[in-house]
Amino acid sequence: MALKLFNTLTRSIQEFTPLDPSSKKVGMYCCGPTVYDFAHIGNWRTFVFADLVRRTLEFSGYEVKHVMNITDVEDKIIKRVREHKTTLREFTGKFETAFLDDLKALGCREPHQKPRATEHIPEIIALIEKLVARGVAYKAADGSAYFSIDKYRGCGCTYGQLLKLNLDEMRTGERVAADEYEKESVADFALWKARVPEDGDVFWPSPFGEGRPGWHIECSAMSIKALGETFDLHLGGEDLKFPHHEDEIAQSEGATGKPFVKHWLHGSHLLVEGKKMSKSLGNYFTLRDLIAKGATGREVRYLLLTAHYRETFNFTLDGLAGAKAALGRIDECVGKLRELAGSSTAAPEAKLVEQFSAALENDLNIAAAWASVFDWVRETNKRIAENALSATAAASALAAWDKVDSVLGVGGKAGSDIPAEITALAEERTAAKKAKDFKRSDAIRDELKAKGWVIEDTPKGIKLKKI
Ligand code: AMP
Ligand code: ZN
Repeated sequence: MALKLFNTLTRSIQEFTPLDPSSKKVGMYCCGPTVYDFAHIGNWRTFVFADLVRRTLEFSGYEVKHVMNITDVEDKIIKRVREHKTTLREFTGKFETAFLDDLKALGCREPHQKPRATEHIPEIIALIEKLVARGVAYKAADGSAYFSIDKYRGCGCTYGQLLKLNLDEMRTGERVAADEYEKESVADFALWKARVPEDGDVFWPSPFGEGRPGWHIECSAMSIKALGETFDLHLGGEDLKFPHHEDEIAQSEGATGKPFVKHWLHGSHLLVEGKKMSKSLGNYFTLRDLIAKGATGREVRYLLLTAHYRETFNFTLDGLAGAKAALGRIDECVGKLRELAGSSTAAPEAKLVEQFSAALENDLNIAAAWASVFDWVRETNKRIAENALSATAAASALAAWDKVDSVLGVGGKAGSDIPAEITALAEERTAAKKAKDFKRSDAIRDELKAKGWVIEDTPKGIKLKKI
């Protein structure tokens, strides 16, 4: 069977084929975090979804180049830098590190490239100049540069490819300078924002004058640089369809004259206890908040992976308790299989892998994928109880689990009660030591201690012990 995914561009479920069907290479871009705060559990739903897409493609034999940008200059960031009386890099660096730590704790594979917007100013400027030269962008009197939707449409291009926008009925504003703007208005949007006093020292020189890039152009410039003018797959949360992704398409196609992305995937939003997350409702959770409540990254990952990506997911604390129980059932079964298998090895048994693949290939039908796992757990437990499993059969069952877990990414080692985020921190410390960054490795040791774990270096590697 072939992998089928919903494409927002065609509004239909389509067979996924890469641009170059003769190769197994896929270029995938996921809009990354705006690093002005800790990512919340809604953001994590989208990033875990991106990880599921990547792992599914890899499971299907594709070689994925996964790019996720870091938005480290944008309206909200500048406001906070000013409020905290700090520098841009110091401020964003802290949240970028926290984001990457959390990404690991959630068992997500690290993107191959994580370009920062502030490190791509020349590419951004060059792209804007191209748009100006092609007549679809213009410099305004205040030294900002804007994208002209009228001029773009005048060239026969479509603005509104992802959402059917009724441009005649929509309020057309003059122009918008904000990175996020009213969804009812279609207005010329800022590519380059002229320096204003509130920006402090966050500005760069450019042919249009001193200033900084708009949010949308950052993604066009970085994705084109990393993946080329046309690439396979672009992902994000559903709120990004308009204006962010629509503007990315307009900028990219306006500059290159080529189709920007073949396949667009959007994940639906997450609600908490049935409501939109907000600090005033007290239902706003970061991963760290949930860990403080006793959850592990692995449990959160499991829970986020239980719902289909195109359905709104209602996150509840009860659901988190259910995640612990469900993972416990898997761990118990896998633990018994490991004991039975000993050092035997065998090819994966077919049934689980076949059912699991068929479910995922059907537009990532994760509910059916989990059903195949839990049916397998039930049947395997029965076979174990009946003493019907030889060491080879147990090894074959384990190999099947390892294969499906290469997509699910929840498979803690049998018997291990070390939370995923503690393991992730320990791994980060090892990497820091290797890089001779002893300040960071000491800081991680302290962080582990504060979380109740001591780390020991032994000749066989590191050992983690609960205090
Ligand atoms: P941001 O850091 O605000 O740029 O958002 C990062 C990602 O999180 C984007 O892909 C958003 O679409 C996504 N996102 C924001 N809120 C939610 C939510 N409640 N549920 C799912 N995804 C979300
Ligand atoms: Zn983007």
